[in-house]
Amino acid sequence: MSGFKLAIDGPAGSGKSTISAMIAHRLGWTHIDTGAMYRAVTLKALELGLDLNDESSYRFLESTFIHYDNDRIFINDRDVTEAIRSQAVTLNVSLVSSFSYVRQQLVHLQKQAAKEGNIVMDGRDIGTVVLPQANLKIFLTANVEERAKRRHKENLQKGKNASITTLIEEIETRDKKDSTRMVSPLKKADDAITIDTTNLSIDQVVDKIVDLTRSEGE
Ligand code: C5P
Repeated sequence: MSGFKLAIDGPAGSGKSTISAMIAHRLGWTHIDTGAMYRAVTLKALELGLDLNDESSYRFLESTFIHYDNDRIFINDRDVTEAIRSQAVTLNVSLVSSFSYVRQQLVHLQKQAAKEGNIVMDGRDIGTVVLPQANLKIFLTANVEERAKRRHKENLQKGKNASITTLIEEIETRDKKDSTRMVSPLKKADDAITIDTTNLSIDQVVDKIVDLTRSEGE
């Protein structure tokens, strides 16, 4: 297979990034986590102390290069892979990603990054906006309790502790903002295949998508 574009979308905590990274690793493809890119913009805007509600604040993107490489995310040459997971970034990223200026800039970079080679790209608008011609589109879902439990487990491994109830609220708020925004809301593409991962292990989901990819590529 060459030049295969695999688009994986879904709500917060549905396992997109982990699953996409594993698929890319298994197939020897390039993975691009677009959520990490929106998080990087949010981190930078917070660090600069900008007014996050003002779309013109994000003009710094004209001279800032955000890129995802080998499961690491960079602002210019600075590796911000860990920094983008902070609570402040998580709480503000849906606001930042709702501005059409921010989306235009990042969608442009994402389209460029996906031009060459076999790509697994995950996000909210990959099948609908970034790669509408993708060879295969997957929409991952899981009920909110399961998504919060997964996040809780991940957090504990990183030494963070937030209650499941808090995580459910945070996920529901982010989903609501992401799916009701005016510009490219979180939405399943008409031709995407939905996989409900609530009762599946990560390996089962990866196997399923790899099988679908292989049968699509033959
Ligand atoms: O994937 P993750 O949960 O890290 O994404 C963080 C946020 O980035 C999402 O809640 C959403 O607001 C935004 N996002 C987006 N479009 C994408 C990917 C992420 O708006 N393609």
